[in-house]
Amino acid sequence: MSYFRVNEKCNGCLACVQNCPADALDSTDVGDHRTLRHNMARCARCGNCWRVCPEDAIEFQHLLENKWDEIASLTLALCSVCGEILYTTRFGETVSVKLDRTIKPLCPRHRESVASLARAHFFPGGKRPKEVQR
Ligand code: SF4
Ligand code: SF4
Repeated sequence: MSYFRVNEKCNGCLACVQNCPADALDSTDVGDHRTLRHNMARCARCGNCWRVCPEDAIEFQHLLENKWDEIASLTLALCSVCGEILYTTRFGETVSVKLDRTIKPLCPRHRESVASLARAHFFPGGKRPKEVQR
């Protein structure tokens, strides 16, 4: 997912670090090892590092890629009657916890028809409990 990529041509000259106007590049030397780092939040995508790099080591094109990164993958809850997509199962769990009851995965159409079946079963002949007057 790193958009800033440096290829194997890099010789660690630090021209990019020294010419970055946004302090988005730095390096550390520890023991016998030099590490270059890039900070995406600071990077202005100005391309200066790419222009000054004498080795063509910065693959700047990745910084300009217009692409979407997948950041989450979640299971969907489908209507248990018709399979219509409702919401994610995690969202259903969240709502269930907040309401303190289990949410049945039903689309509005089938939620109504299940309610109708229940009414027909429990109140045959169309009799229904009196509506509470507010
Ligand atoms: S694109 Fe510009 S701001 Fe980003 S690292 Fe390179 S020189 Fe720095
Ligand atoms: S300017 Fe190029 S060669 Fe030099 S350290 Fe940066 S990426 Fe590596």
